[in-house]
Amino acid sequence: MSEKMKNIYYPIDAEVVDVVTETSTIKTFKFKLSEPLKFRAGQFVQLTVPGIGEAPFTPSSEPGESTDLEITILRTGRVTDYLHDFIKPGDPVGIRGPFGEGYPFDKFKGKTVLVVGGGVGLAPMRAGIYGLFQNIDDYKRVSIKFGARTPNDFCFTDEFDTWAKKPHTDLKLTIDRPFPGWTGTVGVVTVLLDDLDVDIEDTYVISCGPDIMLKFVTLKLLDLGFDPFHIYLSMNRRMSCGFGKCHRCNIGPYYICKDGPDMCYGEIMNYPNVFG
Ligand SMILES: Cc1cc2nc3c(=O)[nH]c(=O)nc-3n(C[C@H](O)[C@H](O)[C@H](O)COP(=O)(O)OP(=O)(O)OC[C@H]3O[C@@H](n4cnc5c(N)ncnc54)[C@H](O)[C@@H]3O)c2cc1C
Repeated sequence: MSEKMKNIYYPIDAEVVDVVTETSTIKTFKFKLSEPLKFRAGQFVQLTVPGIGEAPFTPSSEPGESTDLEITILRTGRVTDYLHDFIKPGDPVGIRGPFGEGYPFDKFKGKTVLVVGGGVGLAPMRAGIYGLFQNIDDYKRVSIKFGARTPNDFCFTDEFDTWAKKPHTDLKLTIDRPFPGWTGTVGVVTVLLDDLDVDIEDTYVISCGPDIMLKFVTLKLLDLGFDPFHIYLSMNRRMSCGFGKCHRCNIGPYYICKDGPDMCYGEIMNYPNVFG
């Protein structure tokens, strides 16, 4: 490990190599790092845009160790607007991290993993899905449920067929409202949980999306009889330092940056600010 990687405040240098437009508000930025970064699915990094600022993002690329890194970013404010409007191949950025624990894949061995994502929540979920596919035979089944506002708001659509063809994997999509030409399910992502055909006691859930989605997905899962300790919520809320010092992202005694960002619902459910 280099000196830079040992110092959590020191970003490693990276260069933008490609920018892919996923939807009207989401782009995937592909980076080449000056040294390999090793991360587990669900861990996040701090991306520095020189002269503009820094923001946390969970890589959307395959977990492991590599000098290639992808981050899929929704336009929402100062840093993300600048990325969308001005950042192009050849531009320098910095990457700090990885931070957080990531998904506890060891607990999922031999179980069904239900992946529930909405909106830009599909970005961190993609690293999770790639991570599950790395050892797909470790799991009984991988069942993916994604929701978006319209068919044009899904990211990674060109990969969906490949994912659905992986062994014991299935993928279902829904959009919020009827849309010309859409013949699939309509309704927010919880509608895909209505006719859930999994063994609930033997299933773990990972979910990422807006707070409001996480709330209603969790309530639905509890209603269906899921153990709160089988529900992992990726909580992408505001934070600053990334390692439990700035106290901006705590839920009770837990820090989303340090203990998450994928938090076990059973551990946090009795604290007041779980859903923002
Ligand atoms: C662990 C983690 C992983 C994340 N992964 C991703 C990812 O993969 N892709 C992605 O697009 N985004 C991700 N985010 C969210 C991302 O960090 C924010 O969108 C980003 O920090 C916004 O920075 P900004 O300077 O563009 O916006 P700002 O100018 O700081 O804010 C603009 C507006 O957005 C609101 N806002 C800013 N950050 C957040 C937030 N985290 N949650 C809710 N509202 C916010 C502000 O209150 C403000 O209203 C992640 C966040 C965390 C904590």
